[in-house]
Amino acid sequence: MQTGIKAFFALALLIVLSIGVLQIPPVQDVLIDKVIRSRLSTTDRQPLFADDALRLLVCGSSSPFPDPDRARPCLTVIAGGKFYVVDTGPGSWNRLALLRIPGDRIGGVFLTHFHSDHIGELGEFNLQTWVAGRGAPLQVYGPTGVEQVVDGFQQAYALDRGYRVAHHGAEMLSPDDGLMQAHTLSLSADGSMTEAFVDGDLKVSVFPVTHTPISPAVGYRFDYKGRSLVISGDTIKDANLIRAAKGADLLAHEAQNQQMVGQIQAAAADLGRTRYAKVMADIPSYHTSPVEAAEVANEAGVPLLLMYHLTPPPPNRIAEMAFLRGVAEIRSKGVVLAQDGTLIELPLDGTPAQVSVLKP
Ligand SMILES: [Zn+2]
Ligand SMILES: [Zn+2]
Repeated sequence: MQTGIKAFFALALLIVLSIGVLQIPPVQDVLIDKVIRSRLSTTDRQPLFADDALRLLVCGSSSPFPDPDRARPCLTVIAGGKFYVVDTGPGSWNRLALLRIPGDRIGGVFLTHFHSDHIGELGEFNLQTWVAGRGAPLQVYGPTGVEQVVDGFQQAYALDRGYRVAHHGAEMLSPDDGLMQAHTLSLSADGSMTEAFVDGDLKVSVFPVTHTPISPAVGYRFDYKGRSLVISGDTIKDANLIRAAKGADLLAHEAQNQQMVGQIQAAAADLGRTRYAKVMADIPSYHTSPVEAAEVANEAGVPLLLMYHLTPPPPNRIAEMAFLRGVAEIRSKGVVLAQDGTLIELPLDGTPAQVSVLKP
């Protein structure tokens, strides 16, 4: 027999044997145990909490648009050993859980406004981080309206909290720790930043943005040991945001491609989906295009721009190119299109930002 044919039969035999081996229960159990351990271990996530960088992790890169690979808007800022969540869009807790971020390290939640795509998973963040061992009520910050939102979720989850305590015991799940505490942030009249939160070297500032008719709507700036990042929330191109982002290392800005939204509107109208077409016709008025987001980053002098809250979320490379059409002409570098798991690290030693994608 020729060597090639021998190799073919050897490979075929190996495949058949392997399939056979996989039918053996103890072999299955070993493999399953391996997967369980890799999904439970948080050891390889500990470096994310090292005090050597200000970090931003994308826990939801989509907008209200459904997407099989993206949660709705959610950004996680990691600083000083804790993580802070800006907006809790539907699917975003699931994303953080898949990425094995230890829930007991949550430092607080900051809401930019109360559209459903930004608040939908607040109840799950509260429940899951409590079960993970948070050890105090979840602190939730936002503009006027945050108390109503927190009260509503608190009430909706009241029965569930009771079930958990009854099942696992008050020693493990202190009922008091399972609650949320709302903090209404006051905004300046002139659109400048005001202090929202301070913990050691971490300072969070808040400023109003323009998402008319939704008001208030805000963005946030995080400063930590000489590094800083700014989050736009939902807004049109906004002078307050440009002012707040001056001198920052990173700007995370929402982006909506108006031409693609127009294409969706036209297709929806053609297909008789008139209500969908009407929504598409309404949304360009209160979001920022990718080109405008690049202009904001340029005008603020920010070296790195992360586009998130992608409308529509591009499903492949071709759509990404269409989404970013025109951006390179005004900003040739320093643009990152977010995906769920995008991690940006701003080292405290002042060295350049590092961009990677965390996988589950
Ligand atoms: Zn939104
Ligand atoms: Zn919105």
